[in-house]
Amino acid sequence: MNILSMKTQKIANWGNYPNVESNIHSSEYIDEVIQTVKNSDQITPRGNGRSYGDASLGENILSCLELNKILAFDPNNGILQCQSGVLLSDILEFILPHGYFLPVTPGTKFITVGGAIASDVHGKNHHVDGCFSEHTLNFNLIDSEGNIVSCSAQNNKSLFYETVGGMGRTGVIVDATIKLKPIETSFIKYEYQKVKNLDDMMLSFENCLDWTYSVAWLDVLKGGKDMGRGILMKGEHAKLSELKSTNRKRPLLPHSNKAINMPFFLPSFVLNDYTVKLFNFLYYNKQLAQLKNGIVHYDTFFYPLDSILNWNKCYGKNGFTQYQFVLPKKNSLDGLKAFLNKLRSSKNFSSFLVVLKLFGKTNPSAHWSFPMEGYTLALDIKIKEGIQELIKEFDDIVYKFGGRVYLSKDAFSSRKMFNLPDNLAGKFTSVQINRLKK
Ligand SMILES: Cc1cc2nc3c(=O)[nH]c(=O)nc-3n(C[C@H](O)[C@H](O)[C@H](O)COP(=O)(O)OP(=O)(O)OC[C@H]3O[C@@H](n4cnc5c(N)ncnc54)[C@H](O)[C@@H]3O)c2cc1C
Repeated sequence: MNILSMKTQKIANWGNYPNVESNIHSSEYIDEVIQTVKNSDQITPRGNGRSYGDASLGENILSCLELNKILAFDPNNGILQCQSGVLLSDILEFILPHGYFLPVTPGTKFITVGGAIASDVHGKNHHVDGCFSEHTLNFNLIDSEGNIVSCSAQNNKSLFYETVGGMGRTGVIVDATIKLKPIETSFIKYEYQKVKNLDDMMLSFENCLDWTYSVAWLDVLKGGKDMGRGILMKGEHAKLSELKSTNRKRPLLPHSNKAINMPFFLPSFVLNDYTVKLFNFLYYNKQLAQLKNGIVHYDTFFYPLDSILNWNKCYGKNGFTQYQFVLPKKNSLDGLKAFLNKLRSSKNFSSFLVVLKLFGKTNPSAHWSFPMEGYTLALDIKIKEGIQELIKEFDDIVYKFGGRVYLSKDAFSSRKMFNLPDNLAGKFTSVQINRLKK
């Protein structure tokens, strides 16, 4: 019986820009997925569309969401094998009660394992645990001939490292085996620190390297001596002995699936300079003390945005882009200052979601992965007239300071901003790869 489904639909990724009419193929059967690959001249592997820009969009898409089975679990050693379309949220629900957590997680749990490997995602613990690939023991990949190739850091090593961070260029990941992180509880012990400017913020990052998780929110509308002020958030997996008695009754509680839905696109005037200023003022000042400590569930610490489904509609129908770049450590302070000055002077564009992280040492074999040792800044920007010119100005600064841009977020940057092989030709492509080929 042939149950391969194909539908034609207009789709976009998380930024709702660009929109592309696509033929979407999907099947839960590997042999049908192989046939689709063999029969296609060009095809784009796709996970859950949580990249922001034009990665994972294409005329012909192979959706992996039906490859959604957990295949094996070794609770003694914390090793999980699952198909590539399984969402991290489903893995968390499954592994938490066994005392395990994801070794690396991005700021949303609604991505697939295939997407995590293809983007080689990083979390708030990059300075300690590196990227997702460092915990990926192996995966099976359908190549352009339709062969299934087993890859690991030892076996078919070059294909393994071309695939991690390779944005789907090498083939379709069908399943993967991941080494999990043992935990005592599903709670996170946190410390939130108010920091008065960028110099102090970078010093504070360097002084908290013994915390497993760290990330900062920046109020980018402030200039002068306050430039780069913000809140540095540090976290650690809480031990059982650190929990209050109510939480000790269910220490390994997974997240709940309750969330608010954002049913419609907000009119585009709602997010403007004044509302962003007001948000920044309230957010920075809601914490009165210099330091705030506590214990929260992992869902609150890692995935605050997931509690509002479709929050991307806040940016209106034209959508938004996320610009994320990394600068080498030695240039980070000067480069970030130049960038923040440029952002402040771009009066027509403001951003309330601006996040700074510190990347640690990287694995030299994972040459297509985005991180380099240094600081990474990510900001959401509403799409409107002038965005292309603004991104070009951002690119010039990032390039001048030796940095690069994250393909998983990009829809506008030029090719020189990425770590990409010379030859981008091949069966597995996307709107993004085709744009960057030109
Ligand atoms: C709110 C939010 C927060 C985020 N925070 C972070 C963060 O902290 N760190 C971070 O690194 N990223 C972050 N991201 C980006 C996100 O983690 C990546 O874009 C991830 O790749 C999305 O996975 P997906 O399953 O949705 O894949 P898609 O968006 O569908 O695809 C992403 C890429 O992976 C390829 N791909 C997908 N599945 C396969 C497969 N089975 N085989 C081969 N290639 C495949 C696609 O071709 C595409 O190039 C965030 C995204 C959102 C929306």
